[in-house]
Amino acid sequence: MRLLEDQKFENERAIVRVDFNVPLNKEFQVTDITRIIAAKPTIEYILSQGGSCVLLSHLGRPEGRDPKLSLKHIVNEVSRALEAPVQFCDQTVGPEAESRALALEAGHVLLMENLRYAKEETYGDEAFAEQLARLGTVYVNDAFGTAHRAHSSTTIIAKFFPKKKCFGLLLAKEVNAINKVMKDGESPIVAILGGAKVSSKITIIESLLEKVDHLIIGGGMVYTFTKALGGSVGNSICEPDLCEIALNLLAKAKAIGVEIHLPFDVIAGDDFSNDSNQKVFEANNIPDGWEGMDAGPQSCEKFHKLIINCKTILWNGPLGVFEFSNFAKGTISIGESIGEATKSGAYSLVGGGDSVAAVKQLGIAPKMSYISTGGGAMLESLEGKKLPGISALTN
Ligand code: AMP
Repeated sequence: MRLLEDQKFENERAIVRVDFNVPLNKEFQVTDITRIIAAKPTIEYILSQGGSCVLLSHLGRPEGRDPKLSLKHIVNEVSRALEAPVQFCDQTVGPEAESRALALEAGHVLLMENLRYAKEETYGDEAFAEQLARLGTVYVNDAFGTAHRAHSSTTIIAKFFPKKKCFGLLLAKEVNAINKVMKDGESPIVAILGGAKVSSKITIIESLLEKVDHLIIGGGMVYTFTKALGGSVGNSICEPDLCEIALNLLAKAKAIGVEIHLPFDVIAGDDFSNDSNQKVFEANNIPDGWEGMDAGPQSCEKFHKLIINCKTILWNGPLGVFEFSNFAKGTISIGESIGEATKSGAYSLVGGGDSVAAVKQLGIAPKMSYISTGGGAMLESLEGKKLPGISALTN
């Protein structure tokens, strides 16, 4: 892994692929600057070493040059976060973009217009990547959020910098966090998988079974497993066509000595709303008219005892419909258990899909060792896939 510290930046113009895909409100103000702050250490490091930065990012999924998705809306916010002036170029490639980049002095920052204004970017077009490459003399990728995409700016561009490409600090941190669990995790290792559907997690479960000692299954996924085992799931979310796969996963886990833990009890509602009536049922005995929406108290206690004895913890997906405050108890409880284990020295990684939103909303984020910034990229890493953006830097 070629790190930022391994690259010389003095008098170099670094093309830094960042993930500034930030949320904007109706007035085009940035409503969450987490991703900008996350890229700050890399940019500051390059500037401190006597280099300059040409920042590349996408914003949303524009069809052509949609002015609502111009990166000009975020320039002031980036400048405020970096506590330094940031120039903006309303082109991404081409003669004007190149002359603006060329004129950039050491210690200065230039943000280019939205990469995805050009459809070539997401096609991974090589000619477009070559045009992007002309903007600088060194390539740094710090965009973990798009590392699973073989786009021009995240992957293809790297081939134009065979000796001058490296990981940004954030990207390196993300890769290290994943390796700490998936490669070098200290036993006992527990993975906690929640979320809505088994269908979106099958490959993750298969991949994790090879790595962990325990797998806790929560959220809406539970009911496909309990139905497969002959239970009644009432109106709970369930994918009956996946029951056979669920049984196969249970059998595979047993064969290789991984313990799968399903909740014993669940909190069900008589309607999919925050104010529905609530009742606790055994997870495999939910009557019609009720749907399982959260982990039950006995399950949370059992999971707690397991989690606090683990040394490595991976968490993806809420244990219930956490968006409804009355069904967030299971997710909060798991977060508290992970927090306690982390305090006692365990390593805990949270990420992928909705998990980050859940831990932030429920106030448990500070108790985790590391929270991944990449939704899809994190999920693909958990599936055991090689991310093209990472391979392009290491090849
Ligand atoms: P995912 O993106 O797969 O991690 O799924 C996250 C979503 O799963 C959240 O929006 C939760 O509300 C939802 N979820 C968790 N538990 C349940 C459940 N028991 N029934 C329905 N949806 C659930």
